[in-house]
Amino acid sequence: MRSSRDLANSYYAATAQTWETQASLASAENCDVAIIGGGFTGLSAALACAQKGLSVILLEAKSIGFGASGRNGGQLIPGLRWSMRDIDAEFGRERAQAIFDLAYGAVDRVKNHIAEHHIPCDAKAGHLEAAYKPAHFDTMQRDAAYLAQHFGWEAEIVHPQDIGQHINGGGYHGGIYDAKGGHFHPLNYALGLAKAAQKAGVRVYENSAAQTPVDRGTHVEIRAGAEALTAKHVIIAADTWTGNIAPELSSYTVPIMNYNIATAPLPDADQLLPSDAAIADSRFVLNYFRLSADKRLIFGGGEKYVQTPPTDISAFVRKHIAEVFPTLADVPIDYAWGGAVGVTMNRLPHMGRAGNMFYAHGFSGHGALVTTLAGELMAEAAMGTMSRFDVFANVPHSRFPGGKWLSRPLATLGLLYYAMRDRL
Ligand SMILES: Cc1cc2nc3c(=O)[nH]c(=O)nc-3n(C[C@H](O)[C@H](O)[C@H](O)COP(=O)(O)OP(=O)(O)OC[C@H]3O[C@@H](n4cnc5c(N)ncnc54)[C@H](O)[C@@H]3O)c2cc1C
Repeated sequence: MRSSRDLANSYYAATAQTWETQASLASAENCDVAIIGGGFTGLSAALACAQKGLSVILLEAKSIGFGASGRNGGQLIPGLRWSMRDIDAEFGRERAQAIFDLAYGAVDRVKNHIAEHHIPCDAKAGHLEAAYKPAHFDTMQRDAAYLAQHFGWEAEIVHPQDIGQHINGGGYHGGIYDAKGGHFHPLNYALGLAKAAQKAGVRVYENSAAQTPVDRGTHVEIRAGAEALTAKHVIIAADTWTGNIAPELSSYTVPIMNYNIATAPLPDADQLLPSDAAIADSRFVLNYFRLSADKRLIFGGGEKYVQTPPTDISAFVRKHIAEVFPTLADVPIDYAWGGAVGVTMNRLPHMGRAGNMFYAHGFSGHGALVTTLAGELMAEAAMGTMSRFDVFANVPHSRFPGGKWLSRPLATLGLLYYAMRDRL
């Protein structure tokens, strides 16, 4: 496992709601469903299973929200990495409609959780995708028109002359504003889900790293530390760590390191981002940013394809801030942290079943909303209802070529190529 030091200096950890650290698994236990991973996917699955009357144990190797869920940009971006125009062309209308219903429906699932469980996670409405090049704006407008015409999802086209309603900086060539998107404090959402799951009866164990589950046909055994548990079904929700638990799944994703900072509170924050929307630009290696509840700029920019963090994360991200907001070139940075984004070959989440086990990983930077849905679909599958789960499980996926040793360097070459194209 990666060290927890790179999470320690996150704005989210510093402003987390209270959470009592849970004990490790310390005796042999059994349950209907065992869940591996305490991020959005695992917590949502745990809550949904418990609400269906199943007995549930959740094993988290470190602490709730330790992974991407507790350290992401907090951008709530409706849909997937593909436009619905591309999904329609690839899968046909019937499947595209089913994918749309689920992926865009995830927005309401997250909002419902926040409202129903009173999760204090600074949720705000509004997301803008900002065009880095005029050609990107042309594509965005076509995609938005298609989405509205064929799927009834309306988002606002923001012409270049109006972009200042949302952002003063960056020189963007227009964008798409989606009032149903938004942003939130991701760690507090995860902790809120965990509390709701516990209330519903889920047994949560932290510092309990699961080993590879053994499927005995009638049940599955999982060892964590000195103890073992037995479950009828297992849900693997360990995203970038999935390959450690289920080696046969490892080459379906590669981890891409991504870094975030939070500035000191900014007196002129409302001038920089007047509508308080979350902003993501349209490049392959994108800049994305938003304001926190206390008016800090939370900014993510740049990627690294090796796991070792830059020696100075603030300096690494600062150069991207200065590209967008030159006046913030020397802004004080109070927090800097990073995490691994699990990316699949086709940038769509990889979900599936192996015997009594279900898995979902590789949300490819679009996980803040879709993970809650993925957890619920796996809970349905554990109850024997496969139809909605199969909408995603039937999406074809390829492994990154190169096997255990070469897949990461080869994927890196491919990603560098796309990053370079944006600079041309
Ligand atoms: C820096 C960064 C910025 C991002 N920004 C955005 C964004 O703005 N918007 C967006 O939509 N998406 C974003 N993402 C992606 C999004 O955060 C993820 O897709 C999502 O959080 C994945 O959730 P998860 O629950 O599947 O995995 P995770 O949150 O990674 O949870 C997996 C958990 O499994 C645990 N685990 C691992 N191995 C074991 C084991 N053996 N036993 C028990 N537990 C184990 C880990 O400790 C971890 O807590 C970002 C990701 C990163 C890293």
